[in-house]
Amino acid sequence: MPSYDYDLFVIGVGSGGVRAARMSAVYGARVATAEEKYMGGTCVNVGCVPKKLFVYASHFSEEYRHAEGFGWGAASPAFRWQTLLANKNAEIARLNGIYRGLLEDAGVTHFDARATLVDAHHVDVDGKQVSADKILVATGGWPTVPDFPGREHVITSNEAFFLETLPPRCLVVGGGYIAVEFAGIFRGLGLETALAYRGPLFLRGFDMDIRETVKAELAKKGIDLRFDTQVKQISREKGALKVQFAGGASLATDLVLYATGRAPATQNLGLAALGVKTSDKGAILVDEDFRTSVPSIFALGDVTGRIQLTPVAIAEAMCFARTQFKGERQAMDYDGIATAVFCQPNIGTVGLTEEEARARHGTVHIYKTRFRPMKHTLSGSDEKSMMKIIVEPATDKVLGVHIVGSDAGETIQGVAIALKAGATKATFDATVGIHPTSAEELVTLREPEPQPEASPA
Ligand code: FAD
Ligand code: NDP
Repeated sequence: MPSYDYDLFVIGVGSGGVRAARMSAVYGARVATAEEKYMGGTCVNVGCVPKKLFVYASHFSEEYRHAEGFGWGAASPAFRWQTLLANKNAEIARLNGIYRGLLEDAGVTHFDARATLVDAHHVDVDGKQVSADKILVATGGWPTVPDFPGREHVITSNEAFFLETLPPRCLVVGGGYIAVEFAGIFRGLGLETALAYRGPLFLRGFDMDIRETVKAELAKKGIDLRFDTQVKQISREKGALKVQFAGGASLATDLVLYATGRAPATQNLGLAALGVKTSDKGAILVDEDFRTSVPSIFALGDVTGRIQLTPVAIAEAMCFARTQFKGERQAMDYDGIATAVFCQPNIGTVGLTEEEARARHGTVHIYKTRFRPMKHTLSGSDEKSMMKIIVEPATDKVLGVHIVGSDAGETIQGVAIALKAGATKATFDATVGIHPTSAEELVTLREPEPQPEASPA
């Protein structure tokens, strides 16, 4: 039996890598890790955490306005971007230290360096070869920007977290999570904000009622939504950026943020030379145990190009560590994964969309409500919430729940637990509500929507 320096070498200390390394070590493995940029990866440094802090920051402008209806004075304090940046950076430095400490405490050997694959059991880290029985690639993803004239003038979410100053105007390009979240952040921080999406309606893949509701709410906040709009070229003119759209329209702005998706970080890792199979988009192909086409090499998280969410990478890492080092085989369950989009108001969603449910089950019952949250009876805001429950008539099983509302990200977690436990509509109906909340609507919806005409009742 060959002897290796380590039982496991993890490339990338992000959401998935850090959990896999730490738990494998806890289960008794000798583990080493390498990280080329920042401890904690995308989520901690240029993702979930700073994004959520920015969402909080941006929401205050509205809160100050809403406070007037509740008797508070009218003056909004001035916003200082530098203060937000400095406080955000300090918090992230604190988290970086925590992640480093977690690995140290678990007895993991860590290298602050880029690592590449040499062969099935060796990595090159900082010019030194290290051997391991198993190698886990958890290198995450990286923003992609399409090629077009003037591409050099745009930024991605990576840079948006470190802007030296906030300009007066911005354009966000894209129609996914990052685009709608950043459009809300910039608008809340006072920027004249436009969003350009190439299709007829953004948030493709989400329930249509969510997409329509978010469209209406973002427009109310003054975001200039431009659908069926493609950027043709961008030039710098007199200190501003001129964005030329296909079809002839143009826009003068100061900042263009491209949020057009992320690609798996698989370049120059040495995968191809080793015969590790990847998809046409560069995602590492793995089996149920996260094993690649080379048996000693594993991969999980964003680099596998599946569901790109931190809790998914962490759950995959738990399955990997238990299976490989605890002797308990555990497969990842991708069903019923809830997600929140921190646009303003939030989206919270779990299970099938109405479109998916109808395609899969034929007739479904839809329970839906749109309402003004109680807070806005005095706030002066005309923001509306939307809640929707999708039920399979034959079994009464709840197939999906979709919410747009100020705390939808919080509300949907409890709903996801109920759905995981197999909740039926009768379970929702038998649950006593909490009053006065928005969430109580979920247990008081009694009348299904009429069936669409083409569908049998
Ligand atoms: P990552 O966290 O990306 O970690 C990969 C690590 O590998 C990185 O630190 C990288 O530097 C390192 N690395 C790469 N190559 C090498 C190498 N050769 N050698 C050494 N190190 C290497 N998800 C949510 O669930 N909720 C959210 O609110 C949310 N918000 C987001 C907001 C933004 C703006 C972005 C971009 C993402 C957001 N995500 C969110 C997604 C989430 O951040 C990712 O799904 C998650 O970080 C994936 O974890 P990972 O371990 O696969 O990769
Ligand atoms: P998404 O895949 O969510 O969205 C990409 C968007 O860019 C889509 O609207 C897509 O359009 C559009 N697009 C793609 N290519 C082009 C192009 N060439 N020209 C114009 N538009 C284009 O990616 P994001 O970058 O927003 O986020 C990456 C992932 O990170 C998310 O999918 C999510 O998993 C994760 N994330 C999670 C968050 C959360 O949990 N709250 C927050 C932020 C990110 P089309 O739909 O037509 O393909």
